[in-house]
Amino acid sequence: MPNPKHLTERIFQSPSKYIQGPNAIKNAAKYLDAMGRSPLLAVDDLVYDIAGKGLVEALEKAQFKVTRGRFGGEASTQEINRLVTLGRESQADFVIALGGGKVIDSAKNVADILKVPVAVLPTTASTDAPCSALSVIYTDGGEFEKYTFYDKNPNLVLVDTSVVVKAPARFLAAGIGDAIATNIEARQAKYSANFGGLLPTDLSEAIGAKCEEILFKFGKQAYEANKAQALTPAFEAVVEANTLLSGLGFESGGLAAAHAIHNGFTAIHAMHGLMHGEKVAFGVVSQLILNGADTAELDRYIGLMLSVDLPVTFEQLGIPNVTDEELRAVAHLSCAPGETIWNMETAINEDIVFNAIKGANAASVSYIKRTGFKKE
Ligand SMILES: [Zn+2]
Repeated sequence: MPNPKHLTERIFQSPSKYIQGPNAIKNAAKYLDAMGRSPLLAVDDLVYDIAGKGLVEALEKAQFKVTRGRFGGEASTQEINRLVTLGRESQADFVIALGGGKVIDSAKNVADILKVPVAVLPTTASTDAPCSALSVIYTDGGEFEKYTFYDKNPNLVLVDTSVVVKAPARFLAAGIGDAIATNIEARQAKYSANFGGLLPTDLSEAIGAKCEEILFKFGKQAYEANKAQALTPAFEAVVEANTLLSGLGFESGGLAAAHAIHNGFTAIHAMHGLMHGEKVAFGVVSQLILNGADTAELDRYIGLMLSVDLPVTFEQLGIPNVTDEELRAVAHLSCAPGETIWNMETAINEDIVFNAIKGANAASVSYIKRTGFKKE
């Protein structure tokens, strides 16, 4: 059925090019050729050793002048300013992000300030950061600070699955947690402005649905393949779901409660070791509770998340003794003005959200008891 609210301007946005496949980094020079000659490469030391050296070699062979910007680990204003200074000093004409979500979020911001193009080369399929025209900025202490928006999406996203399959399977699972939120959040945000500032198009709805379909069909299989470092069709499909479909889907479809509750959880210090998608996974269960999902539907999502070892209970989140007071602080932060939780079609206030979070834990604990679920 056509969306009856679609008599106004709608928007869909995406990167100009997306390339994914085994050994794609070897061909990076060919794809980056149109972007400039002097890239600033944002990368942390660990990733530099794994994939950075190979990339720099390939680029230097093709006459690129690469300046290495050592990334310190947090997508914070201070870190971004440091990289901007380095980019100015080296007269970088484009920026390359090599690594996970935080280096990608930082590099996109750096490129925006320097007014140069950015190429994103994710080395994990752990977030949907690569494709979007926004970054999540944190304080130096790792607390959620704000979303920053850019005029343009990254010019190029290049995913080398031979590198991604070598990352710990926990990263892929976190990406699944982030990606499984795409469809359920977009469904709630259907009548709200997306991250492009207008209502979503029908395409983003289709992307969210396809993303979810792939995860339910191949998520577990891809997770196991990742553990064995096996580059299989299922693994490729889930990398695409986590990176491209989730990225396009959340940006042009919109977010709702799952991500807002994730942002709320950054208030709890004991959870700072968890990955973005791990907290979003719990946010997904919480949002389903807010939506009044029936037990069969809840079980389907909880079952998928447990099958890839995503945390769905307070205990699994590492906060077995969390207090009501702490959870009320999470609910408070989740309901901040401008948060995506206000895209929900259900009634929202701090008390409702506090109860949904407790209800999510209870539903997951009950699932585990009922099914006798045990970690493999
Ligand atoms: Zn996310």
